[in-house]
Amino acid sequence: MHVVVVGAGIIGLLTALELSERGHRVDVVSTGIAEGATHAAAGMLAPAAEVQVGQGPLWQLMREAAADHRALAARIPALSRVLDHPLSARDAGYREDATLVVGRDHADVAGLRDLAVLQRAAGSEVDELTAREARRLEPALGPGIAGAVRIAADHQVDPRLLAHTVHAVLGARGVGIELRSVEDLDALPGDRIVLAAGLGAPGIAGPHRALDLALRPVRGDVLRLRVPREILAPGEEHLLTGTVRAVVRGRPVYLVPRDGLGLVLGATSREDALAGTSAGGVLQLLQDAAEILPAIRETELVETTTRDRPGTPDDLPLLGPVPGDPRVIVSTGYHRHGILLSAWAARRTADLVDGHPDPLPGAVRPERFTKEDA
Ligand SMILES: Cc1cc2nc3c(=O)[nH]c(=O)nc-3n(C[C@H](O)[C@H](O)[C@H](O)COP(=O)(O)OP(=O)(O)OC[C@H]3O[C@@H](n4cnc5c(N)ncnc54)[C@H](O)[C@@H]3O)c2cc1C
Repeated sequence: MHVVVVGAGIIGLLTALELSERGHRVDVVSTGIAEGATHAAAGMLAPAAEVQVGQGPLWQLMREAAADHRALAARIPALSRVLDHPLSARDAGYREDATLVVGRDHADVAGLRDLAVLQRAAGSEVDELTAREARRLEPALGPGIAGAVRIAADHQVDPRLLAHTVHAVLGARGVGIELRSVEDLDALPGDRIVLAAGLGAPGIAGPHRALDLALRPVRGDVLRLRVPREILAPGEEHLLTGTVRAVVRGRPVYLVPRDGLGLVLGATSREDALAGTSAGGVLQLLQDAAEILPAIRETELVETTTRDRPGTPDDLPLLGPVPGDPRVIVSTGYHRHGILLSAWAARRTADLVDGHPDPLPGAVRPERFTKEDA
């Protein structure tokens, strides 16, 4: 089939790759390459740490999605053979180190222990650690932490590196990539159109407008830091060996180490009136992070990024064909989990295009939100 993918964030790029791999003719049309939410994301692949009360159907998707990322990572060397320099999974930003979730005080740790019950019920392995055990694993953690849990199967991928890699592979495979804004899906060619324009989707005319896509921007501020090599102890490669998430008096914060001494500190979650970066949000992130990782004061602040997550009322994505017009497949609304869910979304979308019977759980279908007058 000829498939046109609208939007080149992580969802559109991976979907285009999967479709191209399965032998379809693919074109991508987008205002930019990974410039939206994907540009900001920390890239935590956290099916366990992201478990929240009341999100049952999402847990299963997140676990499936983590397996899809593992499978994608294993395919990177073969996929990148079309490039001048074939890449390893790590070159494309995939890392399998464990995640620590730290509680700043005893109430925070009690909350983590409660959540661990749910995380285990959702099928994840979660180990409870004392503060001393946590600091043995990550010696840079501050002396004031009260305890932690360790989640071996929550990993990370650098979304910018992955998007850059996939974009390069698509180009080398001859997938058309046109940089422009799409106003109307009906004006596009293609046997199928995948609408992966993130928060831009409701603003584009087309048959999906018969549905209430119910998207709202959930703003996130995230900082990128660099660790000076001079502050590391002899033999240390980084301040942290893996992702450290924390709860500091009820507030979540995370620190994701990158190769090359980068450190991603995030993120706020705001639905206020500020269009740009929140000064108060940045201040709070730095203060909370400094309580967990005091050496953060000695790092270099390289970048402050603010982007909107494409939120839905039930935190589940919007994935599926438009009822009555299956030429258009909606794939957006990935909210806080779009990097984690991206390889899963790509596989499921390609299954739809390929006509697999019932490839989607009902909980993600976009028609669950209908307009009041429908
Ligand atoms: C601060 C922050 C931290 C996050 N951290 C994580 C994390 O750790 N783990 C995780 O799993 N998720 C995380 N997320 C969520 C994740 O980033 C998003 O869910 C995901 O990037 C959504 O991808 P997308 O491709 O749907 O949207 P986007 O990345 O926004 O891409 C959509 C693209 O569509 C294009 N577009 C829009 N309108 C049009 C139009 N009219 N015509 C043509 N093209 C158009 C734009 O170029 C845009 O780049 C985070 C998000 C934020 C903001």
